[in-house]
Parts: sequence; structure tokens; C-alpha cells
Amino acid sequence: MEQTLVILKPSTVMRGLMGEVISRFEKKGLIIAGMKMIQLNDEILAEHYSHLVSKPFFPMLKRSMMESPVVVMCVRGVEAVSVVRGMTGATNSRKAEPGTIRGDFSMSGQQNIVHASDSVENAEIELNRFFKKEEIFEYGADNYKYLYAEDEF
Ligand code: UDP
Ligand code: MG
Repeated sequence: MEQTLVILKPSTVMRGLMGEVISRFEKKGLIIAGMKMIQLNDEILAEHYSHLVSKPFFPMLKRSMMESPVVVMCVRGVEAVSVVRGMTGATNSRKAEPGTIRGDFSMSGQQNIVHASDSVENAEIELNRFFKKEEIFEYGADNYKYLYAEDEF
């Protein structure tokens, strides 16, 4: 089982879309293994978006991510990292396929609803950034036999 980090951005919280987005992960058959609301700050955003700090849009991105609290989630499933990235869609929501979260709920390349980890390695780093060990829960394994074939999990 893989685990990945999802952040429901202020564009989701402020537009009242938290339930809609969480529901998609639940309906897909992914387990919400951890979830909490937090306020991001300069320091953690510089770390989380370290690959973008030199970009001209970085100050604007940071401001947008601090406009309201966000919801951070640990999402678990077989190949959860790539499955969740696929559900998320392209970074620019105007180019994201209909049926993806960004494609269905957003018009923006910045206010694009969710963050999702882009690799197994980064998922582990990002989950450690936002969650303590005891905030991630093991439950739901009894259901795996209805979610997967016996040899899939
Ligand atoms: N972003 C932006 N302008 C850009 C590219 C990215 O505002 O030209 C923002 C956008 O909110 C995006 C985030 O920076 O989700 C992280 O960028 P990344 O390239 O990692 O895209 P993602 O992994 O979120 O699809
Ligand atoms: Mg990214």
C-alpha cells in the first residue's frame, strides 16, 4: 500500500468544495488515513514549494496558499501516488481533463483546488512534513477484499 499527501487548498476551502473533493477519494476506494485543518505559513511553504521559490509567481502562490486554512490528508491505497495524481489532473485547470478534480472544479493554473504528491519518494517526505506518526491511522484493512483482488494488496 502506498500513501500520498493531498492538500485541499484555500480555493477548495473558501468555495465550499471540501466535501465534494474528499468524496471523490472515498468513492474511488482510497482510505483517508489522516486528515486535519492547518494554517500554512511562509516557512513551511518555502519548504513545500522549494522547487518553485525562484519563480516570479512564487510570492503570489504563497499568498494564495495562506488565504485560509487548508486541509491536509494522508490518502492510502495500492499505487495511491499515481492514482491520486491522475485524479487531480494537469496543473493548469483550464487544460485539465474533464473528470479530473481540477478539470471539474477549477479554472485556474494557481487556484487549482488540490496539491498531490508527485512521486512515492516525495509523498513520504511531504507526509512527514505535515503529519506526526500518531496522526496517521491504520484502519479499513477488512475492506480491502472488496476493493482489490486477493493478489493486488
Ligand atoms: N503554480 C502557479 N503557476 C505556475 C505553476 C504552478 O501558480 O505556472 C502553482 C500551482 O498552484 C501548482 C503549484 O504552484 O499547483 C505547484 O506547482 P507544480 O509544478 O508542482 O504543480 P502540481 O504538482 O501542483 O501540479
Ligand atoms: Mg507539484
